[in-house]
Amino acid sequence: MRHEGGDGYTLRVTPVALTIAGSDPSGGAGLQADLKTFLRFGVYGEAVVTLITVQNTRVVSRMEVLSPELVRDQIEAVMGDIPPGAAKTGALGNRAVVEAIADLAADFTFPLVVDPVFLSTGGTPLLDEAGRAAMAKRLLPRAFLLTPNLEEAALLVGFPVEDLASMRNAAEVIASLGARNVLIKGGHLKSEAVDILLLHNGKVVEFYAARLTTRNTHGTGCSYAAAITAELAKGTQLEEAVGRAKRFITQAIRQAPGLGGGMGPLNHAV
Ligand code: PLP
Repeated sequence: MRHEGGDGYTLRVTPVALTIAGSDPSGGAGLQADLKTFLRFGVYGEAVVTLITVQNTRVVSRMEVLSPELVRDQIEAVMGDIPPGAAKTGALGNRAVVEAIADLAADFTFPLVVDPVFLSTGGTPLLDEAGRAAMAKRLLPRAFLLTPNLEEAALLVGFPVEDLASMRNAAEVIASLGARNVLIKGGHLKSEAVDILLLHNGKVVEFYAARLTTRNTHGTGCSYAAAITAELAKGTQLEEAVGRAKRFITQAIRQAPGLGGGMGPLNHAV
């Protein structure tokens, strides 16, 4: 986005990031978490809604997925006016929405981060089985970065992913499905919270953080992927973007405001 300065000479470029995700009315996950994260990283945020959940920090009680046409029209409206420098996808609901996004992503000229959200933090399905298959077949090949956690990686590759060795294997398999770079998040590992980034040139980078024992992890995956997307929108190289996002997410969990009676949200303002 370009602005003419008051004197008519200054040109400032505002980085823009887009999220294509579900709504979490409690504000901890989904597109609400993404927009807060974009703002925290100094990036102008746009949000295309894919589905609406009824939830709070305790329970997801209902989900309604929008029509693929409505999702497509939202993306086209945004692309034709304020095109982003990077985009991410979150909860997509079903196969039709995944395919609509994959079709449009063929023309994206900016990096697309695909966060394969299969389940809510509490275990409610946010993408059905046909949708998972469509994601593997149609959306993965369009992804600049795929960001599964251990459970999502296991569902994608079909074998258990529970230690560093299987994380590396899973990253290779996911890369062979077409994702250009793969970040497997080991936040649920029994030891440290180690994430593995497999870059397209074959380089593997490990990101370490102390494991935090807390129930305030609602929206961690969304916010982490959103932070990476924001950095990519600013033109940051992927390895550096992941490092900055990891530091942000660790602090955001550590300084969680302790809201709600269930799995509480992070502190996006850290
Ligand atoms: N998107 C929506 C709309 C959600 O409700 C959730 C979790 O409840 C997620 C994404 C994924 O959340 P997390 O970032 O904790 O993986």
